[in-house]
Amino acid sequence: MTTTVLIVAAGRGARAGGELPKQYQSLGACCVLQTTLEAFAAHPRVQDGVLVLGPDDEELFTAHVTVPSGFTLRLTSGGATRDASVRAGLAALPDSAQRVLIHDAARPLVSAAAVDGVLDALDTHPGAAPALPVIDALWRGERGLVAGTADRTGLWRAQTPQGFHVAPIRAAHAAHSGGAADDVEVARAHGLDVAITAGDEDNLKITHPGDFDRARAILAARAAQQGSSAMDIRCGNGFDVHAFEAGDHVILCGVRIPHDRGLRGHSDADVGMHAVTDAIYGALADGDIGRHFPPSDPQWKGAASHIFLEHAIGRVAARGYRIANADCTLICERPKIGPHAHAMRAELARLMRLDLDRVSVKATTSERLGFTGREEGIAALATVTLVAQ
Ligand code: MG
Repeated sequence: MTTTVLIVAAGRGARAGGELPKQYQSLGACCVLQTTLEAFAAHPRVQDGVLVLGPDDEELFTAHVTVPSGFTLRLTSGGATRDASVRAGLAALPDSAQRVLIHDAARPLVSAAAVDGVLDALDTHPGAAPALPVIDALWRGERGLVAGTADRTGLWRAQTPQGFHVAPIRAAHAAHSGGAADDVEVARAHGLDVAITAGDEDNLKITHPGDFDRARAILAARAAQQGSSAMDIRCGNGFDVHAFEAGDHVILCGVRIPHDRGLRGHSDADVGMHAVTDAIYGALADGDIGRHFPPSDPQWKGAASHIFLEHAIGRVAARGYRIANADCTLICERPKIGPHAHAMRAELARLMRLDLDRVSVKATTSERLGFTGREEGIAALATVTLVAQ
């Protein structure tokens, strides 16, 4: 079964206030209509869409809305009434459409569950729509006074999307004389059964200025919930080696240590800081030091390695992450690292703007085995964890 969503966005929505029609007003990250479109584009059971715009709204649409990538959206122009707009949308449905979900653009917070409920009910009914039972007592009022009460039994508050099999709802609209409150009324006038499915309090229709704030609050709560349930954590590793050469000191994790040899390298040869920097690039899947600071480029000759680390830290923030912790292991027989480990941690923590207890520097020998055991050079490895902000 193929399902097309038909979004009616031709209204002016004067009650909502603002200079723009309400469907083009901002909900924070994007406008009402964009949010509505994305809700359906993201639904796996909705194949494509038809959008009914106001006759002069094409410029507004282009300025405020981006069609979600991979989603086929046909645009058509609406009529003077909601009925006329829906008829224009029904006429523009692709030939392949078997079911149509008719939805108000001003209900941007429609949930996947509400859509599923309608589609499931269409397996056994020609029409289905979400609604909420009326809970509050109902009054009749006259001149500011309560003039009587009404029985709320069997009363429902209608929402959209209202779903139908395409052929019968086309026939129903063709036969209707106009003036219906919604498509369920049109369908029923044509003798179609419409099942009531579960509505959702959050599926509000933006009507008054205060509804924008309510919608923004609901979107913010959803985003926070997604953030906590799908925590984005990234881990990266780095490894580096530098050979000894003649000299009188080495620089390890930003700390100058007197030694009877130096480390050879294009920059200051800080093997520890290079490993940490590469671990950050690794966590971001963003190449390595050599890609960002090519050894062939003379400007990095003798460069202090904090330049590399600070660059990597900048990339972390730009990508929306923060560093959670870093752990660096230096592998050498000499110099002894222990007496300097605290200073190294402090320097790395300062550069990464982390508390000291989130930065580890430790050392090991290789039991006199291999190149580090023969004191031909120093190796370092590092692990860094990033957490989405
Ligand atoms: Mg290096």
